[in-house]
Amino acid sequence: MSELKGIGVGRGVVEGTVIAMPEPLSEPTTEPRDSGIEAHTEYEDVLNALAAVSDDLNARAEAASEAAQEVLKASALMAKDPTLAKNIRDLVDAGKTGERAVFEAFAAFRTMLEGLGGYMAERATDLGDISQRVIAKLRGVPAPGVPESDVPFVLVAIDLAPADTATLDLDKTLALVTSSGGPTSHTAILARGLGIPAVVGVAGATDIPDGTTVIVDARAGSVITDPTPEQLDAARQQAAKLAAVADQPQTPGALADGHPVPLLANVGKPEDAEAALAAGAEGVGLFRTEFLFLNSDTAPTAESQKESYTALLSAFAGKKVVARVLDAGADKPLAFLTADDEENPALGVRGIRALRDHEEILRTQLKALADADAETDADLWVMAPMVADAVEAKYFHEIASEYGLKTVGAMAEVPSIALVADQVLEFADFVSIGTNDLTQYTMAADRLLGTVGSYQNPWHPAVLRLIKLIADAGKAHGKSVGVCGEAAADPDLAVVLVGLGVTTLSMSPRSIADVRTELALHTMEDAQALAAKALAAYAPGVASL
Ligand code: PEP
Ligand code: MG
Repeated sequence: MSELKGIGVGRGVVEGTVIAMPEPLSEPTTEPRDSGIEAHTEYEDVLNALAAVSDDLNARAEAASEAAQEVLKASALMAKDPTLAKNIRDLVDAGKTGERAVFEAFAAFRTMLEGLGGYMAERATDLGDISQRVIAKLRGVPAPGVPESDVPFVLVAIDLAPADTATLDLDKTLALVTSSGGPTSHTAILARGLGIPAVVGVAGATDIPDGTTVIVDARAGSVITDPTPEQLDAARQQAAKLAAVADQPQTPGALADGHPVPLLANVGKPEDAEAALAAGAEGVGLFRTEFLFLNSDTAPTAESQKESYTALLSAFAGKKVVARVLDAGADKPLAFLTADDEENPALGVRGIRALRDHEEILRTQLKALADADAETDADLWVMAPMVADAVEAKYFHEIASEYGLKTVGAMAEVPSIALVADQVLEFADFVSIGTNDLTQYTMAADRLLGTVGSYQNPWHPAVLRLIKLIADAGKAHGKSVGVCGEAAADPDLAVVLVGLGVTTLSMSPRSIADVRTELALHTMEDAQALAAKALAAYAPGVASL
């Protein structure tokens, strides 16, 4: 038995066996093929590999869901495309290795498809995956990407790329363990959204051999390898307790003394509404509109935006929906808004700064939001990301008001906003605190970097003191101050945030039940006492309470 420590995401505890994510493949060499290897034998090997990959993809399609089936079958067909085979043949004839020929022919095919646009361009990204699979076959190593397994497993990886996360089989993935990544990395946000327990930033995780039995305890932030029978027993009891919480009635969020704390959902697309409502969300506290356009090379049209916004707002008739205008930059680059030559993108032209530089894009979005609002019955609030001060808050309030948007606020993600929160609230109708970025900037710790993951801690008294400054200013102005970063999804921290004066909490739907249960155990007096302790702590974390 040994215990590895990392940063837990969620509260879940599961046991399972480990399967590691295969290492990414190195790029095939540009050196010419060994002169002793005939072109036709080299090409035969490639043809066999292409056929084997096509068969594998077809077999996976048989077992996949309907949506995935279509994509897998299309990929299987592409692996057998005769033009592609011909191009590979030409490259092999010109003296390249089979691997290099595959690499180059697929890359050229991808560029060509991207040029066609539409459905073809969407399929282009799949070509990268097929090419890697063929090269892996030729090398006789496992295909990169999420491993396939007939039985559920604990996935261990250095980190997950967004493309990997799309292929996760949720019925098979018991937990995620990564050696890199902080508590607000993509892996962590994804795991929280899917309700999969995860421990990220675990040094030594990738040394755990495949097939090892582990207990992944997200609340404790630990991964126990080869656990004892007693540890397994305790883990099962804990899991049963958590399952019971999920079955409790979905009452509106409130403290033990009845003080209401609306529990809202973070969503990224209209289809997320269903899970949010099923979890008892009282509205949407953060609609990350940029998620709709992450793969888009051009600014979205007013029509396509209006359609998405109308779809989401319709699902929340009579309820609050807080839409954030496009938050581009750093970890969420948008091709049409983000410069690609900045040395420090997190400190570059992002969020509201990028929108001010492309005001026409902002105006199109505000109009689409206002049009969708006019056709639906939700209570639409809009907010700007990364607002640094009153000047930016005023700018956004004025421009959004031009479109008749009634409740216009600012996200608090840059520490400066806390220091001038009283000024900001002269203009903003509300503030929503994005603790992921607020923590990153307060602690100078890149939210994507595992090596500084321990600094990415919203329990840090420096972060909590900034939140208190904003909450106090909100109270003085009689305006709402919510939290919509990952901090709101940590049940213990949620209580502290309410004690600091935060009025609403927004999180991934999966976290709502745990937060609701924890809030109901504390009165406001209790929450304030816990908040005072957390503010005074030297070592951040629940242990300080
Ligand atoms: C945040 O920074 O806390 C936030 C909610 O925004 P995002 O995670 O999308 O950057
Ligand atoms: Mg943010």
